[in-house]
Amino acid sequence: MGKITGFMEFERIEEAYKPVAERLKHYKEFVLGLDDAQASKQAARCMDCGTPFCNSGCPVNNIIPDFNDLVYRSDWKAAFHTLSSTNNFPEFTGRICPAPCEAACTLNVNGEAVGIKSIEHAIIDRAWSEGWVVPQPAPSRTGKKVAVIGAGPAGLAAAQQLARVGHGVTLFEKNDRVGGLLRYGIPDFKMEKSHIDRRVDQLMKEGVTVRTGVLVGEWPKDSKVTNWSKETISAAQLQRDFDAVVLTGGSEQSRDLPVPGRELAGIHFAMEFLPQQNKVNAGDKLKGQLRADGKHVIVIGGGDTGSDCVGTSNRHGAASVTQFEVMPEPPVEENRPMTWPYWPLKLRTSSSHDEGCSREFAISTKEFIGEKGKVTGLKTVKVEWKDGKMLEVPGSERVLKADLVLLAMGFVNPVATVLESFGVDKDARGNAKATTDAAGGYATNVAKVFAAGDLRRGQSLVVWAIREGRQAARAVDEFLTGSSSLPR
Ligand SMILES: Cc1cc2nc3c(=O)[nH]c(=O)nc-3n(C[C@H](O)[C@H](O)[C@H](O)COP(=O)(O)OP(=O)(O)OC[C@H]3O[C@@H](n4cnc5c(N)ncnc54)[C@H](O)[C@@H]3O)c2cc1C
Ligand code: SF4
Repeated sequence: MGKITGFMEFERIEEAYKPVAERLKHYKEFVLGLDDAQASKQAARCMDCGTPFCNSGCPVNNIIPDFNDLVYRSDWKAAFHTLSSTNNFPEFTGRICPAPCEAACTLNVNGEAVGIKSIEHAIIDRAWSEGWVVPQPAPSRTGKKVAVIGAGPAGLAAAQQLARVGHGVTLFEKNDRVGGLLRYGIPDFKMEKSHIDRRVDQLMKEGVTVRTGVLVGEWPKDSKVTNWSKETISAAQLQRDFDAVVLTGGSEQSRDLPVPGRELAGIHFAMEFLPQQNKVNAGDKLKGQLRADGKHVIVIGGGDTGSDCVGTSNRHGAASVTQFEVMPEPPVEENRPMTWPYWPLKLRTSSSHDEGCSREFAISTKEFIGEKGKVTGLKTVKVEWKDGKMLEVPGSERVLKADLVLLAMGFVNPVATVLESFGVDKDARGNAKATTDAAGGYATNVAKVFAAGDLRRGQSLVVWAIREGRQAARAVDEFLTGSSSLPR
């Protein structure tokens, strides 16, 4: 344990942000990480409380009290080794994880949690700058070949774990660049893409073959997700050529809003809007980029994706940005005795909201209104929830002006026909059917085909994708060799 009385002496330290006016001018990260003195104080607050609820609150089970103690003692290298024993990509989670660990921190019962995410961020950024993050190629090869399909965080974690125990891994990705939603969903201002590029470099030095622009299966003709693949490979071919296949293709099919007027121009899925800006940031030239300049933007959906549309619209120079959420406004403070150590329902205000956005809760869109085929507004109604049913509030209809509407209401299931191509059974929501059991977990109904990440669990978080990729890798290793030294 760091400092026995640290939690009584020191306040929680929040990472600072660059000023709004400055950060709106660009797409770069604007969070200023902790300096050494701040990190030491933040870590000193950890009580090492005996039963570390933070450790089970973290989906990858980061060994949080141990790395807190090491940071307090300025043993950064040991802190890095502790952190990377459970998390392949702490620079991703240290930037964009919502930190369920902090909700579970014992200090959060009646005070302010340890700023665990900021410590994770500080450890891994230091490790990269000190040159401690190096390739870890396997000492010997097994001669087994594994195809991993989809290079989001689940696929990257699975590929890295499998390569490190000596399997020959080929990572197939339909997009032109690796990273999944980290690359083409999450804006650069939340996470710059150089973090992915240097991990890909590490993976390749560990023996992973990366094939981008390759779609496995067929592309559905009615899909509104952009298909950037240049090449197709069949499921049958992969089943012939590889000893095992891991499906980590994500859950990219956006939820639609089929109300009158949906066909009007100017109404788009968030995932038509966000990836284009990330491509432009990467130096690509796009014809007719979907932009929000000077427009009245309405974002429908109150989650992370919606918030990213708000931040991107403000950087484009939108005239106004309004975000709708169909659920009622949650309380600012959670009811801690009722919710701890679980993830609480409370009002969450993102850095993008702070940059300028009006937020409307308990509102539903009844119709899109347009002129000459183009959206000009939305007809809305206030709603209330009774016994789990949504009821319209009589007399609360309004019309709001809109030139651009972005639909950010979540994702329903995998987009491509990859599950059909392999004949993988689906669960009730259309995701791949596979358990997470210690024995036989992640295996689908099809021999030697495994599934992990959003494609299996449905739309989720980066940290869950990393966990599933790691655990699926162990399941595959056991399947191929009869046992595994990989952690679960
Ligand atoms: C806009 C947005 C913001 C988000 N913000 C956050 C956040 O702040 N924090 C957080 O924790 N989570 C966030 N998420 C969620 C998070 O990004 C996902 O849960 C996570 O990326 C899922 O990882 P995955 O590897 O399972 O799938 P994905 O990241 O979706 O990757 C799947 C990959 O598989 C590829 N693929 C699919 N089918 C095929 C095929 N047939 N052949 C070849 N390749 C294929 C896809 O092109 C894609 O690259 C956000 C999501 C979005 C959309
Ligand atoms: S990965 Fe997320 S939940 Fe785990 S320690 Fe980091 S911030 Fe917390």
